[in-house]
Amino acid sequence: MDTPDQAVAILAGALAERPVVQSEPAIEDEPKRGRRTKATTASQKAKGKRRCSICGRTGHDVRKCPEGKGMHPDNPREVAAKTKPLTGDEYDEVRDAMHDRDFSSAEYALSHKLPPREVNAAVRSTDYDDYLDNR
Ligand SMILES: [Zn+2]
Repeated sequence: MDTPDQAVAILAGALAERPVVQSEPAIEDEPKRGRRTKATTASQKAKGKRRCSICGRTGHDVRKCPEGKGMHPDNPREVAAKTKPLTGDEYDEVRDAMHDRDFSSAEYALSHKLPPREVNAAVRSTDYDDYLDNR
């Protein structure tokens, strides 16, 4: 027999080797919530579980629905896309008009058939280049 110290060391070593991870589940039978795998999406599509709340069809949701434009921040209307910038002349006219006491960018946009956001951008800018950069 070895010295008591060695015996203790062997015993301690044996204890340390015991698996401490008993609480961990053996098999994960379901994918974690939140992150959807491709397989899950495909099977959901096949089973028709997931229905679009806009058009009722499967395979997409409101964010991808062709008929749901504007119904979700991720699915904006095409018209919300960037409008054409004002031309240099249009810009100069806005800059002239805005010195008017009664100037209203909304009214100006309406009466000149210009996109309000472009008129606003022109009003905020310091010059035409600045307007183009920051619109
Ligand atoms: Zn849809």
